[in-house]
This record gives sequence, structure tokens and C-alpha cells, in this order.
Amino acid sequence: MQPSKPEPEKKTKCACGRRLRDASVYIYRSHGDRYLFHRCECGVEWTVHQNDVDPLQPVSSDEVIEVHKRLAKFEGSIAELLEQPQHPA
Ligand SMILES: [Zn+2]
Repeated sequence: MQPSKPEPEKKTKCACGRRLRDASVYIYRSHGDRYLFHRCECGVEWTVHQNDVDPLQPVSSDEVIEVHKRLAKFEGSIAELLEQPQHPA
């Protein structure tokens, strides 16, 4: 019996047992929506749709470049980056 968790929709592992943070993640942004394409080493692919981007805060291409630059140095996945606390508005 596992106690109910506060974040039931948040998975930490793929069905194959690999950690989601080990999956390849690609980000696609469109009109304030954010899509996270994941691909596990086992071949499983899934997409996470997020629309928590503030529409009043346009995302510039510079920000996208910055993300890629960070990813180049970051050893985890971007999903892990996104789990970090957001700065207060
Ligand atoms: Zn997998």
C-alpha cells in the first residue's frame, strides 16, 4: 500500500525503469504553449504539454539560445531544469 502522493501525474521513471531525467528532451514552443518531447533509450516517446508560460512574457529567440547553451553544459535533462523553483513574478 502506497500513500497517495501530492503529485500523482509526475512520473519519475519510464515504463522500462530508466529514469525520465535520462531521457532525451526536446522543447518546442508555440504561441505560449510549451511542448516537451521525450525519448527514452528504450524507444518510448512521449510529449508533455505545458501552457504555464506567461503570455505577457514573450519568449525571445535569445532565451531559446540560452536554454540550448545551458543544456550543452548541463548533465541532466531539461526536465530536471524545469523542475527547479520558478522565480516569483
Ligand atoms: Zn524507457
